[in-house]
Amino acid sequence: MDVVNRTTEEPRDLAAALAALAASRGESRALRAELEETNHGVLALYSELELQAEQLREATELKSRFLAYMSHEFRTPIGSIRSIARLLLDHVDGPLTPEQERQVGFIQQTSAEFAEMVDDLLDLAKVEAGRVEISPGWFEMVDLFSALRGMFKPVLTNAEVHLVFEEPQDIPKLYTDDRKLSQILRNFVSNALKFTPRGEVRVSVERVDGDRVRFCVRDTGIGIAPEFHASIFEDYSQVQSSLQKRLRGTGLGLSLSKRLAELLGGGVAVASEPGKGSVFSLTIPAQLDAP
Ligand code: ADP
Repeated sequence: MDVVNRTTEEPRDLAAALAALAASRGESRALRAELEETNHGVLALYSELELQAEQLREATELKSRFLAYMSHEFRTPIGSIRSIARLLLDHVDGPLTPEQERQVGFIQQTSAEFAEMVDDLLDLAKVEAGRVEISPGWFEMVDLFSALRGMFKPVLTNAEVHLVFEEPQDIPKLYTDDRKLSQILRNFVSNALKFTPRGEVRVSVERVDGDRVRFCVRDTGIGIAPEFHASIFEDYSQVQSSLQKRLRGTGLGLSLSKRLAELLGGGVAVASEPGKGSVFSLTIPAQLDAP
């Protein structure tokens, strides 16, 4: 009885299994086709993305070349304007009337701002094009601070603001690009002096995490509202304030500083409270690794 039943059921099981197999084959064929289609779609999207990335690279390269070319071409005429203004103010061709003196002074100041803007643009274009060379060397922090102190002495025109460089304590000899480091600190200090009507601008350096150093430029100036803390490090970014309106700048200094800090293997940060002051800091490795 048993035997008879099994023999009649077996073909039925087999047929059912075959049908299930055929169905699952069909399903997997459909799935494969769907996968292939998706794959094609992804590939098409990928090549479109590649194309767009290439176009973006080209546009960035063009923009950098244009900026570098323009900035370079601007340098010579600005240099001439500044030299002529200086000659006039030095009374090389005879005395000026007080009104002429005022007007030539204005030309000199504006052309100095223009020159600064062109320098920042050129530097930014170089960084973007990856053409900034980092040349590390050994130097003592004391020497860099004293060079900075010397540079700022002639521009300290506001008697109500003191610029203080703290004596570096326990700072090892640094091995990094001192010119780039100096450029970042100069930018922090000149901003601090610009936005501090009275009080103090204090520059200090400390050791952090053993092998890094942190520079801080603290001021007792107008401060920056928290919503601007991130954006001031972007190109052309400026905070809207009444003092800002009177002080022209490019809005490029901090973004350039941020990029230079990254090239030195570190970063920049800000802590600030409106009305109380700001602290701009730069943290970099005390010794830059050989590339
Ligand atoms: P700018 O040429 O305008 O100074 P920066 O990139 O150096 O360009 O600075 C961007 C903006 O950040 C400034 O315009 C100013 O609004 C703000 N800022 C920078 N440093 C200070 C500071 N020490 N105190 C207050 N505001 C500052």
